[in-house]
Amino acid sequence: MLAVCLLCACGPRHQVSVLADPPRAEPVPELEPESELPPGVFHRVRPGQTLWRIARTYGVELESLVEANSILDPSRIVTGDMIWIPGARDTVEVGVHVPEGAAAAGEWIWPVRNGVVLSGFGAPRRSHRHGGLDIKGFAGQPVVAARSGRVVYAGAGLRGYGKTVILDHSDGIRSLYAHNSALLVRVGERVDQGQSIARIGRTGNATTEHCHFEIRVNDRRVDPSRWLSPARRAAR
Ligand SMILES: [Zn+2]
Repeated sequence: MLAVCLLCACGPRHQVSVLADPPRAEPVPELEPESELPPGVFHRVRPGQTLWRIARTYGVELESLVEANSILDPSRIVTGDMIWIPGARDTVEVGVHVPEGAAAAGEWIWPVRNGVVLSGFGAPRRSHRHGGLDIKGFAGQPVVAARSGRVVYAGAGLRGYGKTVILDHSDGIRSLYAHNSALLVRVGERVDQGQSIARIGRTGNATTEHCHFEIRVNDRRVDPSRWLSPARRAAR
């Protein structure tokens, strides 16, 4: 007697194959203890970090970050954003990307109130190009921390720089304030953004009272004017 497959009316062949290869129960995957399956961590975006770099550093797909965080435009994440990293156990250091425009503006304030730029970044000098901004000020005027950080240098040992403060911002970025008449902080001290760290002078290789201000990303000097908000400057 011929059996007929009721689903596709293909005749006995189908039924034979079904009988020859009976369905097996799917193996049930063994569940790991919950502690072995971390749900993820929050990563706080630091200046210069891109979503692409965050994804690559954590070893996750960019798309999964976009989806997990409902991000409309991955190029527009900003400093301070909390990014959910699905599956990550711990937060990790993420390298920085030197911004092409004012990507990191807002995180920094001008180190000299009402500062007028005397000489910009990259301006030609006798034997080199200018590695920072020269911001005019009056003698004794406070120089403030452009961003919160830790003092890693406070002294007069850097040739040409005069009395200088260097702050470390713990994400591969440092800021430097040179030619001061007095230093108000010591190495190891933590300083808040806006805190007075020195007084303007003309020590070192300087012809007038000003603050030579540098931002260094992984020991490479970058143009600080790209990091400082013009609006803030006007407001200060
Ligand atoms: Zn300078």
